[in-house]
Parts: sequence; structure tokens; C-alpha cells
Amino acid sequence: MTCLFCRIVSGEIPAQVVYRGPEVTAFRDINPQAPVHVLVVPNRHVESISELGSADAALLGQLIEVANELARQEGVADSGYRLITNRGPDAGQTVAHLHFHLLGGRPMSWPPG
Ligand code: AMP
Ligand code: ZN
Repeated sequence: MTCLFCRIVSGEIPAQVVYRGPEVTAFRDINPQAPVHVLVVPNRHVESISELGSADAALLGQLIEVANELARQEGVADSGYRLITNRGPDAGQTVAHLHFHLLGGRPMSWPPG
């Protein structure tokens, strides 16, 4: 198994895991871009969001539910947060295992750089 996030999901590589469930795992980003920066990933290997659709509604719902719950736990539910996923080189995807960035705890500008 070569995928970095598959290895984190399996526990082979340590990470600051904040949620572990049967379908979804969440852990702190190693290079945080905001006071709260958590990555929410499917346990099964999915390369990016472009692979998912209506057939994966349950998994997508769980990813969003976990992110929203963690936003509450991390104290940014009311101040606000971003939930973003990068797909492909122009978007800056560097790890080819779908992940949603949960970012919060500071004001963020728009548009993104
Ligand atoms: P992206 O650029 O959207 O593909 O995001 C990949 C994210 O994974 C970056 O924010 C990295 O800081 C983060 N990252 C890379 N390696 C690790 C790791 N071992 N543990 C936690 N986060 C990581
Ligand atoms: Zn993977």
C-alpha cells in the first residue's frame, strides 16, 4: 500500500487522528494553514472528488457530517469555516486520496490564491 492517507487510515503511519469511524477518518493537517486545519477522508481509497457522484451519496453525506461535527467540536461552527477539496494540479492537489480540508479559526480571504 503506497498511498499516504491509506496508511494513515490503517494506522501504519501516525497522525493526530480526531475522528475514526467505519467509513471516514479525520486527522490534523501536518502543515496547518489556519488555527483549525483538519483533513476528512474516506477510509477507502478514492483519488479525488471527481470519482464520486450520486452512487456515493451516503459516503459524501458522512464526510460532510463528520466535518460539521468536528467544526462544532473545534469551536468554529459559529465563527465560520471552509470545507474544501482540491482536485488536480491547478487546484493544488498534492495527495491523491480524496480529502476535505476543514479550515477555521481566522478570517479567510476570497478568492483563494
Ligand atoms: P492537498 O494539497 O489539497 O492535496 O492537501 C494535502 C494536505 O495534506 C496538505 O495540506 C498537507 O499539509 C497534508 N499532509 C501531507 N502529509 C501529511 C501527513 N503525513 N499528515 C497530515 N497531513 C499531511
Ligand atoms: Zn489512499
